[in-house]
Amino acid sequence: MGLLQNAAKTTNGVVLNGFLLSPVVEQCSGCDRVRRFEEQDFCSSYPDPTTKWADGHCNFATHIKAASATAAKINPLKASKRAAKGR
Ligand code: SF4
Repeated sequence: MGLLQNAAKTTNGVVLNGFLLSPVVEQCSGCDRVRRFEEQDFCSSYPDPTTKWADGHCNFATHIKAASATAAKINPLKASKRAAKGR
């Protein structure tokens, strides 16, 4: 369960290392950093996912970055050379 094993439920909500955690937002769905705790989903990296999505998309989102980073990294020429060498 990663970081959230140290989380604790208090009367104010779920607290981790002194930070009050807010549940993930809709855009977080599919991200690898989502952790389930006490029937709610939280981010293992940020206490308040809403602010991570306030200006565009979250820079730690594994589901978004994975798609764009792969597309940007693949150089077709190098990829075909690599394929020709059998690697
Ligand atoms: S890293 Fe970003 S997208 Fe992923 S769960 Fe946390 S706030 Fe959501």
